[in-house]
Amino acid sequence: MYPWQSASWHLLINRLQQGNLPHALLIHGPVGAGKASFAEQLLQRLCCEQYRSLSPDEIACLVCPACQQFAVGSHPDISRLSAKEGENSIKIDAVRQMIDWLQVTPQYAGFKVALLSDADLLTRGAANSLLKTLEEPASSDLIMLTTSSPAELPVTVRSRCQSINLGHYEHTLAEQWLTEQGIDDSASALRLASGGPLAALAAMDDEQRKSRELLFGAWHNVLLGKASIARSVEAVAALPVRLCLRHFMGWTADCVKLQINTEAPITDSARKSALLQLSTVLDTETWFKVYDDLLHLYQIDSASFKTPTVLEGIFADIRLKIGQ
Ligand SMILES: [Zn+2]
Repeated sequence: MYPWQSASWHLLINRLQQGNLPHALLIHGPVGAGKASFAEQLLQRLCCEQYRSLSPDEIACLVCPACQQFAVGSHPDISRLSAKEGENSIKIDAVRQMIDWLQVTPQYAGFKVALLSDADLLTRGAANSLLKTLEEPASSDLIMLTTSSPAELPVTVRSRCQSINLGHYEHTLAEQWLTEQGIDDSASALRLASGGPLAALAAMDDEQRKSRELLFGAWHNVLLGKASIARSVEAVAALPVRLCLRHFMGWTADCVKLQINTEAPITDSARKSALLQLSTVLDTETWFKVYDDLLHLYQIDSASFKTPTVLEGIFADIRLKIGQ
């Protein structure tokens, strides 16, 4: 359960325990709000035979026969519907099948749940065919619709569902979570992703991977004398200075470990062979000095320093230590 979903979850579980869970839910929120995982967890809770006696935070008992069938993906009281691969709409025939399926008595003591993902893709006819079921569901039925674009659903569908907006949450919860995932400026990342924390993480991951590659290229070239200092600095000049320092410290620590023991576990294991080569460029004592210098720069208020100025100093010092 993602922290920003906790309030919505508890609201629904409360209603479930009071015996008045709505029978049609419209789970919406921006791309990356975690709608699919939220819906799946709710589905898992409702299909567990012990759903009444679980604590509010528990998702399922995991041991009842229904949970075991859920785990292997063969729970008979669950139906999932989304657009077929290669198609960009959900057609009336598929919805009618789902409605027919809902008429069959559930096999377990939990709910019978139909999950309709990306409900904005319902054709007009498909949406209309849902109306009667949304209006008079059986007492053990739950229909869950998910969408990033609720406005694209007909009002007649929306008005028959209880709205669960996963985009409406305390922003500090998502920012803190993103920080824990290693995102530097979580507030802007969240803003750029229109409030979808998972989308923010994916975008920043991509961004960070590119930055890491650029930085390693510069670091590698400086240590092996493959490019001038000016060129190496230029390649990463746009990156925040603390990000550069953090990565350089990480690779320095890895080089020290590898120099002492080539089989030592290192942080950036994906770059092990390149780091093994770099580790031989300086002796252990000098590597420690490099690390201390980087750490010193990191600990003083380096965020206000200009990246090119700081890196020119670091790179020149390393070249000096190598004796180039
Ligand atoms: Zn169970």
